[in-house]
Amino acid sequence: MDRTFLIKPVLDAEYPLIDYGKGVYLYDAEGKEYLDASSGAITANIGHGVQEIIDAMEEQAKKVSFVYRSQFTSEPAEKLARKIANLSIANLNWCFFVNSGSEATETAMKIAIQYWQEKGVYTKTKVLSRWMSYHGITLGALSMSGHTGRRARFIPLLEDFPVIQPPYCYRCPYNKEAPDCGYLCAHELEAIIKRIGADHIAAFIAEPVIGAAGGAITPPKEYYKVIKEICERHNILFIADEVMTGFGRTGTMLACEQWDVEPDIVTLGKGMGAGYTPIAAALVGDHVMEPILNGSKTIMGGHTLSANPQACAVSLAVIEYLEKNKIIPEVEEKGNYLKNKLMYLQKVYPFIGDVRGRGLMIGLEFVQDPIKKEPFPRRMKLTETLISVAQENGILVYPAGAGTDGINGDAVMIAPPLTITVKEMDDLIGRLERTFQQYYVQYA
Ligand code: PLP
Repeated sequence: MDRTFLIKPVLDAEYPLIDYGKGVYLYDAEGKEYLDASSGAITANIGHGVQEIIDAMEEQAKKVSFVYRSQFTSEPAEKLARKIANLSIANLNWCFFVNSGSEATETAMKIAIQYWQEKGVYTKTKVLSRWMSYHGITLGALSMSGHTGRRARFIPLLEDFPVIQPPYCYRCPYNKEAPDCGYLCAHELEAIIKRIGADHIAAFIAEPVIGAAGGAITPPKEYYKVIKEICERHNILFIADEVMTGFGRTGTMLACEQWDVEPDIVTLGKGMGAGYTPIAAALVGDHVMEPILNGSKTIMGGHTLSANPQACAVSLAVIEYLEKNKIIPEVEEKGNYLKNKLMYLQKVYPFIGDVRGRGLMIGLEFVQDPIKKEPFPRRMKLTETLISVAQENGILVYPAGAGTDGINGDAVMIAPPLTITVKEMDDLIGRLERTFQQYYVQYA
């Protein structure tokens, strides 16, 4: 191809030109087949080229694709909000639609701050988060993210929002094991609240299962109960960022359900449109909306394309597809099947230090030695090399930095479309095993 005018993630890298996708497979313009074991960026939850979604797009486009939310509401937006309210945790009945996960977390942050203002408290403006977390690329979302690499260039522009240790049991910062650890990492929240003062803190935000910044780091059973109790006791809202985990990725509509915890605000994205349309949302609890309904009656947020009828119709069709084909109830079993196979690979390839995750959000962390758990030096670029060998072998996996220092450490995520079959999972494992073999021969 001639020179490009498109700004791509790495400017001097060659990217294959994609032609089409069907189910869990993608095909480039030269006819090469890729098994999409990462659902793109953990997004294509129902696979590629689903006819029902294409039909829903066409049907809505024939009616109306765009109306401005300050002038009109629309049937798809009303229906989608009602549907999501019914599907999600009890009190999360209000839905604010946006176009990306970053907008969803920014919106959640602003609603949390506004909630306190409407109650007459103007000092509660900080949002606490964790190291090894990612809540989005816009400046507010980055301020709440403990992703050192993505923050680095913009640090002077970011808010000073404190962070606590993540529930990273594979490398516990306290050298303890759950449940006997006493959840010290969760109790750090209390210590930091006491240091800063609860009257300065609006909310605490966390991904139920840590994605991009850690590779499916999954907290122990009681972790979120401890977190929620601390938040409640100190009058701090709990925001669950389910942009990656939501819409069934971990085996339930929201991952939070598995920790039996009720957030005050939840963010959704990725799987909501399953890659067929940009759409995301902040779900807000009745009790959070109450002072706003009794106060200014308006949320200071939103974008031109918020609650876009075309996008809402697609998201509705995605939910209908998930329900009709009973996809979410099968995720846990599929995840266990895949995890068992990956644990077998771990025995053959000792550089796979950890296999973790929930449902079809599985992380592999790589180490020089499985006993000492020493990470490979960053200069080796293991994750990047492995991903490109995987691509050569026709399998797409997702990079997820690991390591407590936020610099060293390598991890990837295996997160195929939730629609994947057993035969396709066997194909996935075959392609991955060939990748590990080739990596071992060429680089190890
Ligand atoms: N929150 C989480 C948990 C994410 O994983 C991501 C993206 O990876 C975001 C927010 C940001 O979403 P987006 O890339 O759609 O802006």
